[in-house]
Amino acid sequence: MNRKALHKISYGLYVISSKKGEQFNGQIANAVFQTTSEPPTVAICINKQNLTHEFIQESKVFSVSILSKETPMKFIGNFGFKSGRDFNKFDGINYKIGLTGTPIVLENTIGYIECEVMNSLEIGTHTIFVCEVIDAEIISDDEPMTYKYYQDIKGRKSPKTAPTYIAEDIQKEVGKMQKYKCSVCGYVYDPEYGDPDSGIKPNTPFEELPDTWVCPICGAEKSKFEKMV
Ligand code: FE
Repeated sequence: MNRKALHKISYGLYVISSKKGEQFNGQIANAVFQTTSEPPTVAICINKQNLTHEFIQESKVFSVSILSKETPMKFIGNFGFKSGRDFNKFDGINYKIGLTGTPIVLENTIGYIECEVMNSLEIGTHTIFVCEVIDAEIISDDEPMTYKYYQDIKGRKSPKTAPTYIAEDIQKEVGKMQKYKCSVCGYVYDPEYGDPDSGIKPNTPFEELPDTWVCPICGAEKSKFEKMV
């Protein structure tokens, strides 16, 4: 069996938000799909260890924010590589409260769906929640983020059409610079791209990054990075 065949399945990238009492939480998910059109229903798949899972089980409501292709890594990192048990992920985030009382993230969102759980199915580590669509809106006509595209920019394997792409001759020149990988989230610091979101210019070696620099995705310190072989 070649499990890698499973990697050929395509997905999107979403923020799933829910609530428990007065508390809000949200997480990144890639498994969201429509199950019926009349009435409109969707299904999502969530890891049982996640705080959002606990919130959905308790409140039976959640929202799906469909992320734009232009969503910055830092935003994905805020919802994706940190736990809401440690801090409030909604601090400083643009969101609103939906009809069911669940929070809906509006930042980097091209459309959202608000849902109420009808049924669920436990599959080992995860739960599939099948839900009725209570409300849905389009926010912009921008392109949605796909999981594949996200993986590509995370590894900085940018397509030639992407603004981050660097011409081959420059790549050759800086090709010998060492890449470093975050041991927490797997983000790769590639000197040829730098970290423009944090003001680090392309062609900056890892060693020359300021000590205050942190992983743009998960916020880990420089010391958490390991040389890539
Ligand atoms: Fe990281």
